[in-house]
Amino acid sequence: MTERIREFLRTRREDGPCVVIDLDVVRENYHAFSRALPDTRVFYAVKANPAPEVLGLLAKLGSCFDCASVVEIELALAAGATADRISFGNTIKKERDVVRAMELGVRLFAVDCTAEVDKVSRSAEKVGVADARIFCRILCDGAGADWPLSRKFGCVPEMAADVLEHGHRLGLTAYGISFHVGSQQANVNAWDSALASASAVFKECATRGLSLSMVNLGGGFPARYLKPIPGVPSYGDAIFRALSKHFGNQLPETIIEPGRGMVGEAGLIEAEVVLISKKAESDDVRWVYLDIGKFNGLAETMDEAIRYPIRTARDGDATVPCVLAGPTCDSVDVMYEKTPYMLPFSLEIGDRVLIEGTGAYTTTYSAVAFNGFPPLRQYVI
Ligand SMILES: *Cc1c(COP(=O)(O)O)cnc(C)c1O
Repeated sequence: MTERIREFLRTRREDGPCVVIDLDVVRENYHAFSRALPDTRVFYAVKANPAPEVLGLLAKLGSCFDCASVVEIELALAAGATADRISFGNTIKKERDVVRAMELGVRLFAVDCTAEVDKVSRSAEKVGVADARIFCRILCDGAGADWPLSRKFGCVPEMAADVLEHGHRLGLTAYGISFHVGSQQANVNAWDSALASASAVFKECATRGLSLSMVNLGGGFPARYLKPIPGVPSYGDAIFRALSKHFGNQLPETIIEPGRGMVGEAGLIEAEVVLISKKAESDDVRWVYLDIGKFNGLAETMDEAIRYPIRTARDGDATVPCVLAGPTCDSVDVMYEKTPYMLPFSLEIGDRVLIEGTGAYTTTYSAVAFNGFPPLRQYVI
């Protein structure tokens, strides 16, 4: 927890769980990415945390933005980004949203099949855009990631040249290749095999007279939760080595799309213990119910994928295994049960708990009012 967040929470008066985002951490993370990959442009993945203050800071620092919808594009523009710093990175878009994005000035679009290329091409014709660029997303197995993004997005690398050539024939610029190695990727070498595939697509396209320019290295950079993770410089080194290995001295233009790695560690949730109980007197495991759960901020505990560090004022006391659950009347609203969470035996109803590393994928995954619990309140300081 940063000193600024500690000070903020000391004086907070409102009831209910909240997340506090420290913009100083976001700024440091942006600089860390810029330093680790100096020739790579940063496209912040807006879905991780679209708070206007976060987007405004990043726009001022020179970041570009990876947007998945027209609303995200409008948020990035409102934060001060120009349209040439925005990519429409979702491979699944309504044609009228592509039209709207083009009307707003966006020219860079992700695709992973010819049907999506057709939408971009028809939209360009309709809006009178002559300089639309497409990049083709290729599949990545997501090995080593705690939150894989495989299967749903991308095509096999062998298909990518056809998709891009199709766009070229329709008057679009075949700009490059993208992939995502899976979110919370702990293996710094995960980019290597994807870059081998990307390089193969570059070569195949070259034999067809198409010269690709760009590799979009996606996101995947981790936040520090319970397990230790390598630092941003290690990722930068490994990616640069893999780029050199597969592209030699003809390095492509590159971009990264960090989401979690940019804002995860900037956030801290303060929550409250609502109930502590047992299911039978003889049970060893206690149930600890918080006023936050899967539906109001901690969706990424799904399948216990992300294990957040939890701090209490009683840390240091003897601990007992606990099932950690949320407050709603839905039995899937249980966060950690397969692997119980060790919490102090002295923990009491009404105690505050602090959940660290919660700046990414918390507010955006929070339901509007399931069971009457409001969406996660956010303060950006
Ligand atoms: C979600 C997403 C990201 C961000 O991923 P992180 O693992 O949070 O860095 C980047 N690019 C695309 C296309 C995404 O969908």
